[in-house]
Amino acid sequence: MFRQLANKIVLITGASTGIGEACAKIFHSNGNHVIITARRLDKLNALKEELLKVNKNSKVLALELDVSCEDSLQRFVKDLPDDMKDIDILINNAGCAIGVDPVANILAKDLNQVLDTNVKGVFNVTREFLPSMIKLNRGHIFNISSIAGSMWYPNGSIYCASKAAINAFSDVLRKEVVATKIRVTNVCPGLVETDFSVVRFGGDVEKAKVPYKGIEPLTAEDIADNIFYCASRPEHVQITEITIMANNQASPSVIHRN
Ligand code: NAP
Repeated sequence: MFRQLANKIVLITGASTGIGEACAKIFHSNGNHVIITARRLDKLNALKEELLKVNKNSKVLALELDVSCEDSLQRFVKDLPDDMKDIDILINNAGCAIGVDPVANILAKDLNQVLDTNVKGVFNVTREFLPSMIKLNRGHIFNISSIAGSMWYPNGSIYCASKAAINAFSDVLRKEVVATKIRVTNVCPGLVETDFSVVRFGGDVEKAKVPYKGIEPLTAEDIADNIFYCASRPEHVQITEITIMANNQASPSVIHRN
C-alpha cells in the first residue's frame, strides 16, 4: 500500500551528501518542505537548486548547522523563519566515523569529534525540536544508527559505542513519548556506498573503496526510500526499528564477496 505524504516540514541534518541528501530528494520531490542542513553550505545551496528544478512548489531552506557545536545549533534555530519552526519530521542523520584504530591508539580529537557529532548532536537537535512536537502532539523522529550499534567489531569502538548510544536513545525517547502521537524510528543500515568511508579514511579514496569491493552495497537512495516508507505509514503505525543490509551482508564481518 503506497500512501501519500505531503506538505510536511522535514528537517534533515547532514544533508550535504549521502543518505541525508537522498532523504532531501525523496521528501521534497513528493511535495514536502525540507530544511537541509550541514557544515558545507556550498553543497547545500547546489542541492537546493537541484531540488527546486524538480519541484518548485515546496520550500527548500538551506542552512549551516554543525550538530557538534551548541553555538551553531542556537544560530540555526534563531535563523529559522516562523513558518518553518514547527518540524513535522526530524531526520537525525549527520554522523561520521574516524579511522579504524584499536582502543590503545585512539586519539582524543577523533573520540570527541565522533561522540560530539553522532551522540551529542542527536541529543541536542532533538532537545531543540521535541518540545514543539509534544505541544502539537505530532511528529516523527528518525535516528540514523547503524548495524554497528549492536554488532560490534574490533577497531570500531568509538563508532560502535556512538551508535549503541543512539539505539538506547531511540528506545528511551519512544517510551517517553508513548502517550503522544510522536513516532520514533531507529534506522540501522549496513554497508551503504557514500562518502562515509572517504571521511573515515581521512580522504583516501582508494582505501575507502575497499569495504565495498566484491559486493553490491546499498545506496543512499535505498535508505531514503525506506525512511520515506516509514514516514508515509498511517499515523497509528509506528515502525520502531529498521535494519537494512545488502543482500550479501549478514553482519559487519560476514560478507560474501565475489
Ligand atoms: P556521508 O556521505 O559522509 O554523509 C555524512 C553527512 O553528515 C554529510 O552531509 C556531512 O556534511 C554531515 N556531517 C558530518 N559531521 C557533521 C557535523 N558535525 N554537523 C553537521 N553535519 C555533519 O555518510 P552517510 O553514509 O550518508 O552517513 C549518514 C549517516 O548514516 C551517518 O549517521 C552514518 O553514521 C550512518 N550510516 C552510514 C553507513 C554507511 O555505510 N555509509 C552505514 C550505517 C550508518 P558536512 O560535512 O557538510 O557537515
